[in-house]
Amino acid sequence: MTAGGCFCGKVRIQLNGQPLKAGLCHCLDCRKLTGSIYSFGFVIKTADLEVLGSPKALVKTSDSGNERHNYFCPDCGTPLFGQGMKADGTPEETTVLRAGILEDSQVLTEWKPQAELYTDRRLEWVPPIEGAAQCSAMIPL
Ligand SMILES: [Zn+2]
Ligand SMILES: [Zn+2]
Repeated sequence: MTAGGCFCGKVRIQLNGQPLKAGLCHCLDCRKLTGSIYSFGFVIKTADLEVLGSPKALVKTSDSGNERHNYFCPDCGTPLFGQGMKADGTPEETTVLRAGILEDSQVLTEWKPQAELYTDRRLEWVPPIEGAAQCSAMIPL
């Protein structure tokens, strides 16, 4: 179990399990979403995520027509997690957690990125993570 939350503290999350995968994403959406130059995300089981508080969802429809809900704190704006939605309106089995909201540095250290996505967008001065698969686009997570 590991805990995290937003900058103002009104939304808290708990991860009741281990991440399935860890990755960096250099895509332009992730830049805007996080205000940083890449995102660090953990793919987790949706069932392992417990949310305390009322995050707000920004709904975006992907090129494939599927809806993605990106949740953030309505008060301080911290990005928290993103979920693809199934046709029946329920979240998919996996969720992408913005890893930086977790407070346990040990978890962040242990779960080094296994893959980097959209590496063609990576800024020149950012070196690749040693041992991480380099993918020029999205891979199925
Ligand atoms: Zn907040
Ligand atoms: Zn991305």
